[in-house]
Amino acid sequence: MLAIGRYVKNRYILFCLGCIVVIGGLHGLFLKLVEQVPSFSPLLFPTLTIFLLVFHLFIACFMVMKYWCDKRRLYLVAIAFAFAGSALLMIGTLSSFPAWLHLYQFNVINYNDAMIFYMFRHLLMAILIIVSALLYIIRDYPLSRLAHIAIVVGALIFTLFMVMLAWLYSSHSPLLSVDLVDNETRQFMMLWSHAVNVILLILWAVTLVTLMVITRVRNLFWVSGNFLCVCYIMTLSMLLVGGHAEDISWYRARLFETIATLLIIFVLMYDVFNLYHDSHLKYQQSYQNSIRDPLTRLYNRSYFYDALSQTLSTAKASRPVSVIVSDLDRFKRINDCYGHLQGDKVLQFVANLLMDSVRPQDIAARIGGEEFVLMLANTSSEAAHQVAERIRLNLSSFDKTSSEGQLPEPITISMGVFTATSSDVAAETCVECADKAMYEAKETGRNRVVVFQ
Ligand code: GH3
Ligand code: MG
Ligand code: MG
Repeated sequence: MLAIGRYVKNRYILFCLGCIVVIGGLHGLFLKLVEQVPSFSPLLFPTLTIFLLVFHLFIACFMVMKYWCDKRRLYLVAIAFAFAGSALLMIGTLSSFPAWLHLYQFNVINYNDAMIFYMFRHLLMAILIIVSALLYIIRDYPLSRLAHIAIVVGALIFTLFMVMLAWLYSSHSPLLSVDLVDNETRQFMMLWSHAVNVILLILWAVTLVTLMVITRVRNLFWVSGNFLCVCYIMTLSMLLVGGHAEDISWYRARLFETIATLLIIFVLMYDVFNLYHDSHLKYQQSYQNSIRDPLTRLYNRSYFYDALSQTLSTAKASRPVSVIVSDLDRFKRINDCYGHLQGDKVLQFVANLLMDSVRPQDIAARIGGEEFVLMLANTSSEAAHQVAERIRLNLSSFDKTSSEGQLPEPITISMGVFTATSSDVAAETCVECADKAMYEAKETGRNRVVVFQ
């Protein structure tokens, strides 16, 4: 318990330190930039907004796709709507800076509208992120289909409602109005600086605490989510101090938000990379399992026949393909005297010996209980005979001690060699001929190599 508590505490401390370093660094960079560029182009703000809009749309799509892959992660829907709604509201922000599109509207900037969209954007995101944290708690509880649909539809309606409300409050509609910024003097109104700004600050603080307590900053995804909250708290604090709609803190706010959003995108990419890496590993594992024998890890029968057929298709007199079929002598006796487990150890020992006795391009496979087969590409009959003889002698030289208990007693093997010198020979025929030679070895006394004539 103590150790877990310490670990969690450490994570919080690490997160806070990380935030201080990153935000401090960004702040320093921004101050340097302000020194170099004393007044920013009026197009910078809408340009940054366009970037942010695209990033938020990207995150929203990503969240939907992630949710689609695993429908239990309902909390991702709330995050998706938070970012999608934010992107929609940023279209409103862009309409307040028409100069980004319309050449003759260079000086027309509706700061009040931009502020209204900004306010609704924060309200929408903070509330949906709190909802997402609450849904994260119940991620393991099975929800009924109806409850599931109700939550998704609820989040959708809430998002659309906030977007519509923002459009109604902005000057696009004469129905509702709110004054947050004086468009003439560009000073923040009392409503913004004494109420809305403070409320949004408190709301983000609540969001941050909720998110931290519930998610315990347990993975990179939630680190980036918490960091976004910290960035919003910082930017709102700066706006509170700023007091002027054209203040430099606006640009700093955009910079922080863009960096926090980029961090989320980076985490999502990292997630995809990890998924790809894991699935590739799993694919490799299952592919290897499908072509190998589980006991000895030699290739299995079907892989062997496929590989042999492929190699035989290019066989010719100058490029012969040799096949060696081997069968352990009196193996049944080993099982009967020492048990099946010991018998399995013997099979593994022989398999390793076979694998170590051939070249990397050769194929060693287990095609029956204690029957093994080797395919030696580009190997003549004499050379294959030598290889088989070497293996036979090597195996028979081991006893219980030198095999470190793998062999309960010395064991021998009978081997048959067949060499194909043309591509007309079928894989089955090759194995059959080598098998015949192996049976001849059995009949003529075992522990020997016979070449098929
Ligand atoms: P021979 O010299 O004529 O080949 O005699 P043998 O006893 O080796 O021949 P046989 O084919 O009669 O016996 C093969 C034995 O291999 C029978 C079976 O119990 C054993 N066996 C087959 N597969 C496995 C396995 O996966 N593990 C173990 N431990 N034994 C196996
Ligand atoms: Mg046998
Ligand atoms: Mg056998």
